Amino acid sequence: MLSYRHAFHAGNHADVLKHLVQVLVLEYLVQKTGKPLRYIDTHAGAGSYDLGDAFASKNREFESGIARLWPRNDLPPALARYVNLVRGCNPGGDLSRYPGSPAIAAKILQRDQRLQLFELHADDAARLRRWSGRDRRIQVAREDGFAALKAVLPPPEKRALVVIDPPYEIKTDYAGAVAALRLALRKFATGVYLLWYPLLQRPEVVTLVRKLESMPVDSLLVELPVRAAAGAGMYGSGMFVVNPPWVLRAQLQDCLPYLHAALASTDAPSWRLCGGE
Ligand code: SAM
Repeated sequence: MLSYRHAFHAGNHADVLKHLVQVLVLEYLVQKTGKPLRYIDTHAGAGSYDLGDAFASKNREFESGIARLWPRNDLPPALARYVNLVRGCNPGGDLSRYPGSPAIAAKILQRDQRLQLFELHADDAARLRRWSGRDRRIQVAREDGFAALKAVLPPPEKRALVVIDPPYEIKTDYAGAVAALRLALRKFATGVYLLWYPLLQRPEVVTLVRKLESMPVDSLLVELPVRAAAGAGMYGSGMFVVNPPWVLRAQLQDCLPYLHAALASTDAPSWRLCGGE
């Protein structure tokens, strides 16, 4: 029984880091016009989120995430690209809707570039289908994203961005994420992969990061803590990027001091950026 619903967390600090990286990587890949590209999301969520609904309103996590960047006019250029994309989803001018990873991809991808989305939760898979509407680029399947990934690689286009964003609500997600990434790389070594993980004081996280950092691949790892690393709760998040665009490290280096100042409390550890040189 899946209990995690991303709508409770839409637009929080972890979404900000994840979606900033997603925007920068996808925009880079799409720049190569005329080249085919596929977007694969193993844990897609509901697609897009109403920040006024009962889920998002419960803890209003977006208030300490995207809402802190929303009114700013001094954003570093790379961060402005992400925030402007979110602004584009809110034509009324108020922050009322937050795009999930599928909606971000749908905005950036071109007319002939396909999105392949997996979501296991019955309600969120139904929401995702409703959100995708008549967009013929999008294919939604209510399937286990880890298992599905190996079946869809390598993609016919031979170029793809794969987002692996499990909820880590069950302990096996940690090992599952690494196993899925390793298997995916064996089948499709040239793909670009984004793997999100929570920063928690748990041995599973330490093991996950150690395994990721020891992978013999071209990679970049970025972490954004927003609270002191104490107690049981999530104190930040990280992204592991395989085959990162060469510009990504410099773009993130530009954004991270700003993001940390805007989103983190004064007792939070510093951000981390490793690899990608
Ligand atoms: N990627 C989304 C975004 O950034 O907007 C958020 C995804 S959320 C962190 C994780 C999602 O994975 C949840 O909607 C959950 O229902 C779904 N899920 C959990 N286990 C899954 C599995 N084995 N396969 C596919 N989806 C799964």
